Amino acid sequence: MSRRNTPSRIKSNRNYTVIDVSETLGVHPKTVRNWIRVGLPVVDSKRPLLINGADLKVHFKQKRSAIRFNVAKHEMSCFRCQGAMKPNIESVQFIEQPAGMALMKGVCNECGCRMNKYVSWRDVHEIWLELKGKLPIAQKHIILRDQNLSNYPFSGVSSDEK
Ligand SMILES: [Zn+2]
Repeated sequence: MSRRNTPSRIKSNRNYTVIDVSETLGVHPKTVRNWIRVGLPVVDSKRPLLINGADLKVHFKQKRSAIRFNVAKHEMSCFRCQGAMKPNIESVQFIEQPAGMALMKGVCNECGCRMNKYVSWRDVHEIWLELKGKLPIAQKHIILRDQNLSNYPFSGVSSDEK
């Protein structure tokens, strides 16, 4: 157990292959591929897949706090409140990441701390509905890498919501 999931061995400023991560952390490569499947971002879609060390650290921090704080899909970990908090709806942004992921950013409704988490694009609509109800998501909350809404994962984007 002590050798497993030790993110302190990971250096933020380098990229790792699946095998590198597996060897550094003492886990099976299948485990690493599974992390990618459930949300660990990869640098781009080229092979071999590369994982950024900083992303890997965030992934572990998120995983640990998600368990500790029991974070729901639409909630985020606030390290000041020490719990699962809802972000302020106006502050929420979903920033497109490679491999079908989004970086969700927002500030804590209670204390105003910045919070980040990685989510799947597939879940963005559901998260938004949980937070905001029936109103369509406004374009300002969505940051796409090429700003082309045609690859936007769901319909009902509103560009004029205040
Ligand atoms: Zn807070």
